[in-house]
Amino acid sequence: MAMTGGPGLGPLGRLDDESITKQRVRPGTVRRIIPYGTRYRWPLALLLLTTVADAVITVSNPLLLKMIIDDGIIPRRTSTVAWLCGVIAALALIDAAAVYLQAWCSGRIGEGLVFDLRSKVFSHVQKQPLAFFTRAQTGSLVSRLNADVIGARQAVTTLLTESVSTLLTIVMVLVAMLYLSWQITVAALVMIPFFLLPVRFIAGKLQRITRETMQLDAEMSSMMNERFNVAGAMLAKLYGRTDDETKLFSSKAGRVRDVAVAGVVYGRMLFIIVTVLTALTTALVYGLGGSLTIDGTLKLGTLVAMVTLLLRLYGPVNLLSTLQVTAMTALVSFDRVFEVLDLEPLVAERPDARELPAAPTGDAAPEIEFDQVHFRYPSAGEVSLASLESIALRRPERADDSWTLQELSFRAPAGKLTALVGHSGAGKTTITQLVPRLYDPNQGAVRIGGHDIRELTLQSLRETVGVVTQDAHLFHDTLRANLEYARPGATEQEVIEACQAALIWDTIDALPDGLDTVVGDRGYRLSGGEKQRIALARLLLKAPPIVVLDEATAHLDSESEAAIQRALKTALHGRTSLVIAHRLSTIREADQILVVEAGRIRESGTHDELLDAGGVYADLYRTQFAQQSPA
Ligand code: ADP
Repeated sequence: MAMTGGPGLGPLGRLDDESITKQRVRPGTVRRIIPYGTRYRWPLALLLLTTVADAVITVSNPLLLKMIIDDGIIPRRTSTVAWLCGVIAALALIDAAAVYLQAWCSGRIGEGLVFDLRSKVFSHVQKQPLAFFTRAQTGSLVSRLNADVIGARQAVTTLLTESVSTLLTIVMVLVAMLYLSWQITVAALVMIPFFLLPVRFIAGKLQRITRETMQLDAEMSSMMNERFNVAGAMLAKLYGRTDDETKLFSSKAGRVRDVAVAGVVYGRMLFIIVTVLTALTTALVYGLGGSLTIDGTLKLGTLVAMVTLLLRLYGPVNLLSTLQVTAMTALVSFDRVFEVLDLEPLVAERPDARELPAAPTGDAAPEIEFDQVHFRYPSAGEVSLASLESIALRRPERADDSWTLQELSFRAPAGKLTALVGHSGAGKTTITQLVPRLYDPNQGAVRIGGHDIRELTLQSLRETVGVVTQDAHLFHDTLRANLEYARPGATEQEVIEACQAALIWDTIDALPDGLDTVVGDRGYRLSGGEKQRIALARLLLKAPPIVVLDEATAHLDSESEAAIQRALKTALHGRTSLVIAHRLSTIREADQILVVEAGRIRESGTHDELLDAGGVYADLYRTQFAQQSPA
């Protein structure tokens, strides 16, 4: 991983690095946000109403204060003082209710928005092609989506409540002030630019700090995700890199600390400037207003009301200048979420997709056909987000236009075992990934039972094809849940039968918790052979007519090898199977062997035919398979 933000940077060292802090919002973002808002019409209307009420009450208080002094205290009218105080108390209660309702509405809208965006993004990211997940750093994707969704909520709720109340309050306070005394109003307005300038400057800095913190948080969580799983932790230990990893992490965490300190400093600076300016303005207004009152031009109550109004003006004016920043934050957050939602799923279902017709009974398994298939893996630009890759991939990717698979044609006959053999990197896994449409070919077609698989619904395709990969993944859950993943609602008996057929039942039954044993993250508490047999049981439970299998030879002793071999026989019986064969016994039993070399089928036939032909297969057999004892 590229190291960013090395040690030795001053507290404000990289804040001006525009590549991280400068973001542009794509046009049309605002238009796309509106539909999310219209869903919350009623809470929005109530929010508006309560905000107006709050603003009106805020401005009426100083006016009531003026009346108490000028019409009550000075002319010594106790009853006037009493009823005006009653009005202030009543307004306070109404205001409390309004503020409460306001919080409820903005919470409802904000959290509703988070819910909408989260659900949509989760569902959309799941539909991304496999290539997306091989490219994106899961940690940074997850943290970015979390941060952006929450950023969008905060900004929207702040905007909704603050923009309306700020503008309304400013207008109403100014009107009230002008009505009371234009001289003092003008003097107060002259001070406003002195507030705005530092506020704008510091708000800009604070925004950059927030953004850099978000970016660094994403980098840290991505790093933790990669290092804190068994495989990553093991690698770091085995290569003695734990201290280096700590250093790298510390440099990032240190940067977060420095940036956060800068944030606190700037935040405090802003507060101090505003406090001093407010005090100065109050002094100015009292000075000017005091002499006007002594002259008799101004009443005492008016002066008090003016100062109180003034104090209520600066708050909203400050907010007004940060409002733009808040609005930008909201737009950027939405934009980044939309960017993810805009990713086209490369493997999409056609609108007119059909179910794969059920085969006539007795001939249950359909055949697989590859017809002049050309395929290359999509480049980063096609499947991922440049902004997500900026952490790992700083250099532009080299354009590679060579085919991974080319002119590939073959038939895997119905109900028969077809074995793929070839050197590592020849393209065997890639071939198997085209069958369940993890990728689509660039040219040519893959057919199942004579139907181009791009014309089928993804659901029916995936019900037809069952895949067991070398690295059988188990979710961190019970064995039962992992097995039922293949067929929700399977009965206990069916689960047990599948486990028995995959020769794993005795092992499971011997566990204290049986099927309720929780398997560790990525299934690590099981041995490789056990994991693969669980995967086979999962496949048997699904009982698909087509089986695609990457035979694993890694970490299997001869005992489990024999067990797997028998389990495999059951799993493949009567199904059309495409197996990446590593075992001699599998290739001997195969009805057809396809020899893959550099993305093409070089030879095909049965074991004996190919040996006799004395070509690539004969070589491969001597180097890879001949020393294996038949299971
Ligand atoms: P095999 O299974 O025969 O060992 P693969 O099908 O895994 O071969 O790989 C064929 C070629 O495709 C290799 O050159 C490999 O580097 C490349 N390849 C495999 N997976 C990807 C991927 N996700 N993105 C880009 N290239 C890949």
